[in-house]
Amino acid sequence: MAESNFVDYVKIYCRSGKGGRGSMHMHRAKYVPNGGPDGGDGGRGGDVILRGNRNYWTLLHLKFDRHAFAGHGGNGSKCKSYGKDGEDKIIDVPCGTVVYNAETGEYICDVTAHEQEVVLLKGGRGGLGNWRFRTATRQAPRFAQPGEPMQELTVIMELKLLADVGLVGFPNAGKSTLLSAVSSARPKIANYPFTTLEPNLGIVSYREGKSFVMADIPGIIEGASEGKGLGLRFLRHIERNSLLLFMVPGDTDDIRHEYEVLLNELATFNPEMMDKQRILAVTKCDMLDEELIAMLEETLPDDVPHVFISSLTGQGISQLKDLLWAALNSESNKLAAVIHDDTLVHRPKDMNRLQQELKDMGEDMEIEFVDDWEEEEEEYEVLEDFEYEDEA
Ligand code: GDP
Ligand code: MG
Repeated sequence: MAESNFVDYVKIYCRSGKGGRGSMHMHRAKYVPNGGPDGGDGGRGGDVILRGNRNYWTLLHLKFDRHAFAGHGGNGSKCKSYGKDGEDKIIDVPCGTVVYNAETGEYICDVTAHEQEVVLLKGGRGGLGNWRFRTATRQAPRFAQPGEPMQELTVIMELKLLADVGLVGFPNAGKSTLLSAVSSARPKIANYPFTTLEPNLGIVSYREGKSFVMADIPGIIEGASEGKGLGLRFLRHIERNSLLLFMVPGDTDDIRHEYEVLLNELATFNPEMMDKQRILAVTKCDMLDEELIAMLEETLPDDVPHVFISSLTGQGISQLKDLLWAALNSESNKLAAVIHDDTLVHRPKDMNRLQQELKDMGEDMEIEFVDDWEEEEEEYEVLEDFEYEDEA
């Protein structure tokens, strides 16, 4: 499976429109020897706007057109005519796109929701025509305003894939280590110097060519949900994860307590998080002996399945993968998608891949999520056993 389906990245040069010039013009007509000023205003330059669009699943459509230019405002003219406003340039991006300043690496914005619009660059305002400057004492102003200049900016856009499994744990819980132990593909994103604090994605391969996406979300600390520490921005990336893997080191004094603190953080951040399936991994258990593990087992919370793992020795890792896979594919975790020509496709995961698969088949379809499979089933033709090509 191509890695690029999962982390996408483009660099685009953007330019807003400049404002049109105000007109300097004196009215002239046959029998009006000294007409007053009548120069109109320049039009406004177009904005460069980012817009979330749920029909896009990658940034591929931007890869081949690396310039985004909004239109310039038209100049004002005689008879108080306004210049035309420049056309806005709208860039459609998939939900989950994060935008950075390409020169400084500075974070600019996230586009997370369908139809969410973010003005990336404002167009210049149009200049005022001389007609606007007439006063009682200055009846024939021989000047007008220029339009405001355009703005330019090169941005980097990154697509944050929605992961199947989100890793939740305090710093040093062993999240990154687990990710590098289980994922075959090194996430491309790790190569960008200024994104070192961003979530890392890895593709975990499971048996028979199956795989799922795991995201390491660094820096959940106590109070993160109130904006302390590495804040909300990271947490947001796990909002749509199918499954949360809580990670608590085996040498923690009170594992149950730490698990509950983490859980509280998430609940405060977004109560919907509590609907997600959870699994608890007790990490670094190469530091524990069997006796200790047996003892700890007694103290663990019983409302969540748990597994003892060591990313160093590999202990418990395949058991962990089994658990994750089973949970991801459990009935309660299934997503449904509606495809626009009235066919309902039922897939538990990986809508990106589904979209790609459909594209490859020559079908450029729109996918919509539905909340309730049962309810929708009545209305559509059901394509229940849709299979990816490499699974068939
Ligand atoms: P993160 O902050 O949750 O991403 O934690 P890291 O993966 O960076 O790990 C923090 C520290 O714990 C590092 O020094 C790791 O080498 C260590 N560590 C991670 N996993 C294990 C493990 O399975 N066994 C042992 N003994 N140490 C581990
Ligand atoms: Mg880490």
